[in-house]
Parts: sequence; structure tokens; C-alpha cells
Amino acid sequence: MRALDWRCAAEQAAAWLYPRRCPFCNELLGADAVQGTFCPACKAEEERLSHRPPRLPATEHHFYALQSALAAYYYSGTVREAILLCKRGFHPWYARELADRMAVRIWGATPASCPGRRPQNELFRDMPLYHCIVPVPPHQPQPGLPGLPLLLARRLGILWGIPVETPLYTVRGTAAQKGLSRTDRMENARKAYACRKSADLSGKRVLLVDDIITTGATVSACALALLKAGAVDVTAAAIAADEELPKEKRTSTEK
Ligand SMILES: [Zn+2]
Repeated sequence: MRALDWRCAAEQAAAWLYPRRCPFCNELLGADAVQGTFCPACKAEEERLSHRPPRLPATEHHFYALQSALAAYYYSGTVREAILLCKRGFHPWYARELADRMAVRIWGATPASCPGRRPQNELFRDMPLYHCIVPVPPHQPQPGLPGLPLLLARRLGILWGIPVETPLYTVRGTAAQKGLSRTDRMENARKAYACRKSADLSGKRVLLVDDIITTGATVSACALALLKAGAVDVTAAAIAADEELPKEKRTSTEK
């Protein structure tokens, strides 16, 4: 049995011992799980909040240094709650299901057949779109908590057999992005990220992973640092984009 098969078998055994849960409502996933990753009760909400097409419009964000930016969902409702639970360290195991949703929603992977299995992506099998996956570093690292972008990157790396690299770091002395105006965010973020001197990304196509893309300031600044370290192009991907929901997707409370 090849190493990858062992890992698959171990994951399925772990899913049997520790059943997977719906990232949107925490219900145990059974044989009727939708695409192996969420419960049937969340199907309508998952569909409503899906970001189609996954490419983010430049009119809603401010991007530079990026090839493109992609997201699976709008940052609202149950998607927002799932991300917050993951980020605050209460339910880090949701990261696996959320990364699998990214693989299906953004790159069109064939969904997993049941909980604990992996989505399959033929697109990456013969010729990977990216040479490595890089997570956006946390602004304030918490001891013992790897951070949601790193968890997502690791899962996507396993799905596609692509290495995860962590060349980026947060430059000390820069303010947190939250609470700043759009202009201040762009200016603050530009100085906030850099690549380690030892990082060599020469000639690499990089997939930069974050949990949420808001203004685009963070992913653009990270992309710039990666390009300076030799990357040839950088695509950003997130679980969700913080954008105004299209009218047809709003519920009565969101109108
Ligand atoms: Zn659910």
C-alpha cells in the first residue's frame, strides 16, 4: 500500500472513531451528508451563500500584485459563524470540511462520496496549477493554535499533493487591520508582511490561502512580498469574501 493510501485509510478510521460534523450547524454527519461535508438541513443555506463565479470582482475589493482572487462563499449567515468558530479555536476540525468545500466550489473538485473521504480533483493530478500553497500568517499568533489559513492550506496540500510553505511573517509594530478605514488598511497592510530571507520562491506559482477576503489589502500585500521573493504569480483563495450579498441571495433580515 502506498503512503497516500495509508493516509486515506487512517483518515477513514479516524472519521469512524471521531465522526465528522457539519461545519455550518455542528450536526453529526451521517450517510446522507451532502457531498460528504455538510448536513442536508444546511443545503439551502450552503447554496444561497455560494459565491458564483468564485472569482472576486475588482469593483468590490482593491487588489494589486495578484493574478486573481477566489472565494467559495459570501461572508454571511452560517458561513460566517462556521469561520468564526474555527478561528477562535473552538472547532478547528471544521477547517477540513471548509477546505473541502473550497476545493469543490472554487476548483470544481469531484465531491467526497461520504464523510471522512476526500474530494478528488483530476485537474491537479497530472499538472498542478500551483507549485506550493502559502497561508496568510496570523497577525497575533496564538500559542498552540495553528491558525485557520494554515489549517486550510494543509488540507488543500493533502488533497492535491502540493507542498505547504510558510515563508511569510508579520512585521512587528504594524497595527491590526480590524477597525481601520479602507485607505488606512491598504497603507497599513503594505508594510505588515514580508518573506523570510531564506525563502526562495523563484519561478513558483503560488496559491495564497486566507480565511476571509475583505478589502483585499492583506492578500495583496502578502502577494507583493511573495513576488519579491521570486514567485512568478500569486492567486489568492479564501473560504469567503466579505461583499454585499446580491439582492436575490438576501433573506428578509438581510434586506
Ligand atoms: Zn448543518
